[in-house]
Amino acid sequence: ALRVTALSKSYGRTTVLRDITLDIQRGETLCLIGPSGSGKSTLLKCLNLLERPDAGEIRLGETCLTAPGADVDAARARIGMVFQHFNLFPHMSVERNVALALTSVKGMTREQARATARRHLDEVGLAAFARQRPSRLSGGQQQRVAIARALAMEPEVMLFDEATSALDPELVKDVLAVMRDLAQGGMTMAVVTHEMGFAQEAADRVAFMCDGRISEIDTPDRIFEGAQHPRLRQFLNQVL
Ligand code: ATP
Ligand code: MG
Repeated sequence: ALRVTALSKSYGRTTVLRDITLDIQRGETLCLIGPSGSGKSTLLKCLNLLERPDAGEIRLGETCLTAPGADVDAARARIGMVFQHFNLFPHMSVERNVALALTSVKGMTREQARATARRHLDEVGLAAFARQRPSRLSGGQQQRVAIARALAMEPEVMLFDEATSALDPELVKDVLAVMRDLAQGGMTMAVVTHEMGFAQEAADRVAFMCDGRISEIDTPDRIFEGAQHPRLRQFLNQVL
């Protein structure tokens, strides 16, 4: 499990995360929803140690990721992240994009890395595109390559930050289908999304973030149908 305790983060005088405590169980899919600026991306970045929290603790299994002297690279290798913008290398084939970190970080031979990349491209339905440059693919396909790239590292946890927000509407479906398959396959996931349909169907729990706090966390049914918190009701009225 991923265990967050009393996490806080400020940028200068702006407090962005206030005393966040959160457990994500192994195999659980947690969706994070909430208004713009509520701290969703900052929370994910802290989980992946892309941002350093000011206070609090993050534990993954037995390892405390925030301990002084903790191995940040080792921690990051256990936590995959997919962003809104997929940042594939344009001059490399799709397969090479996925294989790159496998040789440089995981120490695989080129041949092992290639085979592993193929396997994960197959998993996202893109084996046939392995030799293409990313620019030949649609935005949705490129995002699936980015997912394959993260999966190829065999992370224990996957973080998604608005992975479909930059895509044309007709391309969103295929990316969400890959994410749904992953969730059903038992991956541990934290997913920041504006896709309330996805949160409703795929999440085990939904957390509503507001002003740097998790103000509600519950099953999708109770979040979407039984919302009590006025800020959550207001938010849902705007997005549903
Ligand atoms: P959105 O839905 O728009 O993506 P969010 O919930 O992901 O919003 P964050 O990106 O986490 O929100 O930002 C939370 C707050 O932190 C915002 O007020 C933002 O301006 C501020 N913030 C984020 N990153 C930085 C930074 N590097 N320096 C200063 N302030 C920042
Ligand atoms: Mg964000």
